[in-house]
Amino acid sequence: MQTVAFLGLGVMGSGMAARLVDAGFPVIAWNRSAARAEPLQRKGATIAPSPAAAAAGADVIISMVADDRASREVWLGANGALAAARPGTIAIESSTVTPGWIGELAREVAGRRGALLDAPVLGSRPQAAEGQMVFLVGGDASAIERARPILEPMSRAIVHLGPTGSGARMKLVNNFMAGVQAANLAEAIAMVEASGLDRDAAFSVLANGAPGSPLVKTVGPRMLARNYDVNFMLSLMRKDLAYAIEEAAAHGVTLSTAAAASALYDKAIATGHAAADFAAVVEPLRGAATRSDGPGKPPAAER
Ligand code: NAP
Repeated sequence: MQTVAFLGLGVMGSGMAARLVDAGFPVIAWNRSAARAEPLQRKGATIAPSPAAAAAGADVIISMVADDRASREVWLGANGALAAARPGTIAIESSTVTPGWIGELAREVAGRRGALLDAPVLGSRPQAAEGQMVFLVGGDASAIERARPILEPMSRAIVHLGPTGSGARMKLVNNFMAGVQAANLAEAIAMVEASGLDRDAAFSVLANGAPGSPLVKTVGPRMLARNYDVNFMLSLMRKDLAYAIEEAAAHGVTLSTAAAASALYDKAIATGHAAADFAAVVEPLRGAATRSDGPGKPPAAER
């Protein structure tokens, strides 16, 4: 079986790497904060002291970190994975990053006689843990076929979107819509609460009507319950909107709804919700009466 180096054991990476261990792959993992790697080590993975040390013995390297900056760090930084990667290695970037960075990384990987797949994912914490994600993949079909046995235990679908960068681009289109929808839902909930409508009845109308997308159905109850346990960190959604705006602009398209939504996420960040789940985008929009018990806590009447 191919040996997998797994870089980044956050919400998504820890679930994904655990699936690979369960499927029997030898996994050599690394995470910037060592403590976060302990559960995977107990499961049977080897923990490496650096991305380079993880990559040195691997056939396939997967990165699942926060953003462009973190990705650059783990692949090309001091003790980065690429310096130690063996010729012929498949490098898989699953973080949500920009197509511009993917292009640069692809050239670096090719210079070391490897192949890069950009393979960001649809799904969140539960889908990562249960192997039910969808990979949006850009790159060569032959590299995808070589990577398929490793991607399969983590996913319910592997979608090949086109050449290098296509997966990253598609992910930004997807999260542009998801980020705007969540901001839109937050304003709707604020309006329902402030106007004195019955919240549960109103949400049932929205969830079962035309606006009732899968996102509205899953994130709405978390907004209503003020449950901000992290599935997807608010600051990461803000990052995705920024990347989407930049990518669309490069193609001459203005994402005005993403710009408006970004202002709501900025408000949530400014009021202390950056590290909460993105459902917390509703918090600063709530009326004073609903907010009175402070961020993250349900109002007294609901406890
Ligand atoms: P997370 O829980 O915040 O984990 C982020 C990971 O990146 C951690 O391992 C963190 O290390 C690492 N990291 C951050 N900055 C770094 C740096 N400068 N150098 C090295 N490592 C760094 O995030 P996540 O939810 O797993 O998301 C990971 C990626 O998947 C992001 O690109 C996100 O947009 C995307 N994504 C997330 C979801 C979701 O629902 N959560 C869904 C689809 C895609 P430390 O542990 O040391 O902080």
